[in-house]
Amino acid sequence: MEMNDSVITTVRLMADYMPDNPLSGPFEASWRYMTAHYTEFQIATWGSLLVHELLYFLICLPGFIFQFLPFMQKYKIQNDKPETWAGQLQCLKVIMFNHFFIQLPLMCGTYHFTQWFGIPYDYDSMPPWYMLCLQVFCCAVVEDLWHYVLHRIMHHRRYYKYVHKVHHHFQAPFGAVAEYAHPVETLVLGTGFFLGILFFCTHFVQMWVWGLFRLLETIDVHSGYDIPYNPMHLLPCYTGARFHDFHHMNFNGNYAPTFRWWDKLFGTDWQYKEFCNKQATKDGLKKD
Ligand SMILES: [Zn+2]
Ligand SMILES: [Zn+2]
Repeated sequence: MEMNDSVITTVRLMADYMPDNPLSGPFEASWRYMTAHYTEFQIATWGSLLVHELLYFLICLPGFIFQFLPFMQKYKIQNDKPETWAGQLQCLKVIMFNHFFIQLPLMCGTYHFTQWFGIPYDYDSMPPWYMLCLQVFCCAVVEDLWHYVLHRIMHHRRYYKYVHKVHHHFQAPFGAVAEYAHPVETLVLGTGFFLGILFFCTHFVQMWVWGLFRLLETIDVHSGYDIPYNPMHLLPCYTGARFHDFHHMNFNGNYAPTFRWWDKLFGTDWQYKEFCNKQATKDGLKKD
């Protein structure tokens, strides 16, 4: 506890010496406007729906454009399986159904959750950015374990064909495939999103910041492109696009969404390691 306090004090002192964020003024004004003009129910439900839709398609956009840029094809992981219009349209239909009929009711639930636990919405109670980062990291650790366990169970041959098979329709994924899933999977894995919130949420803004992080992560690992200097790789033990792309290609192993430690600990990444070694040998032979 003492160590946690000293870490937070150090970060707070460092933050005092950092230059002011030029976006903090407009952000404060927008947040104050929103809380003054809309009810907490409207913010939690319709606001979350809007934020989710905007972020989802905005984050998917670069990957969508890459398919038309020949010079980006050297970063495509399974470059023998390009995206098709039919596949992308089918994906769009399923994710729109999930967004409006599964995730929207869950968003209505978040309003009741915030009321039950007295989670504030006002600007003045907002935690500083470094606390938000810490809370989001903790949410990611909790969600990662939930996802790893449930994902492995869904791959059990007794259940696979009923639910998780839908997500594996795309053997070479692209960004929007992130939420292409059976409604039951959206519900079961979506529960993991709220687990961390249950333990660490101190302000409503955390739902959106954690949501932003989760979308950046899941769309990146499904993007099908391994781009150099990707800032997501600054996260310790981050899985990345190659790691999850292998899961779609191989149908087994690499079950965790964000961190590599559970697959390493339970030995579910052995096929991926073998595959990487074979690739490295092939590349070595090509250079010789
Ligand atoms: Zn899977
Ligand atoms: Zn996937």
